[in-house]
Amino acid sequence: MKVISITPRGFCYGVVDAVEMAKQVARDPSVPRPIYILGQLVHNHHMIERLAEYGIISLDNTASRLDLLDSIDHGTVIFTAHGVSPQVKEKARAKGLHCVDTTCPDVQKTHDLIRQLAARGYQILFIGRKGHPEPEGALGEAPGQVHLVQDESDLAALDLPATAKIAVTTQTTLSRWDTEALIARIRERYPGIEVYTEICQATQLRQEAAVRQSAEADVVFVVGDVRSSNSNRLVDVVRDQAHKPVYLIDSVRDIRPEMLAGARTVAVTAGSSTPSDITREVIRFLQQYDPEHPVLPPSTSP
Ligand code: SF4
Repeated sequence: MKVISITPRGFCYGVVDAVEMAKQVARDPSVPRPIYILGQLVHNHHMIERLAEYGIISLDNTASRLDLLDSIDHGTVIFTAHGVSPQVKEKARAKGLHCVDTTCPDVQKTHDLIRQLAARGYQILFIGRKGHPEPEGALGEAPGQVHLVQDESDLAALDLPATAKIAVTTQTTLSRWDTEALIARIRERYPGIEVYTEICQATQLRQEAAVRQSAEADVVFVVGDVRSSNSNRLVDVVRDQAHKPVYLIDSVRDIRPEMLAGARTVAVTAGSSTPSDITREVIRFLQQYDPEHPVLPPSTSP
């Protein structure tokens, strides 16, 4: 089967740095043990399992970062690439924990922007995903002045004075197409807004490449974890902008012959937290796949 390997795809610079920092910490015998990650370093369970082999404990990701700290009394805590609020840093220091911060520079830039805008008296609308750690960290930069907006219902529920100075900013891993539509709705309600789109370059390049390079494909696979925001946005843009059938798969084991029925060309991309060997395995399997004689991928139960 013809396979289009979309590039760029997979690990971004923020993830590469965060993973390398975590491994260096684990290799350093002078670093206090145990070593915890506050949440998942990146949203990919393959990576979490690999970090566990270094003795790094990833804490449950469903609670807030602030609450997760309650389960740590000593040792080292690693803050993830998604960034944490000042309150989390303060609480960790007050507990006497050794802190390692792997916040991506692009996320840090958004935090700095929010602090500056808040100091100048702005109300800030942060377009982002509820339950994702990045908004939690960003909102903590100016409690009471930053409002999380995921969709139009959040916009409708806002009650800001007509005279308020309003700025709009975004989570780094969103899609510019979705974000532009929501910003247009915000502008209808608050015409004087200032807009600072903070979708990172790595996310934008991967999305634009996915839309452009899947043009000739009959079906598209995004390799990524179901919890990964940027992987899910890749699915959205391929479906909504390239108008192609698209599947989010965790690994080669999720591929089913019915997904490939009638397809002659398939395109493959990956979220920025997906290890490259997982994606390469998908590409290799598809390259040798014969639609006339469909077979299940290795280790797949019928
Ligand atoms: S997706 Fe963007 S913001 Fe997030 S870690 Fe990667 S480069 Fe940084």
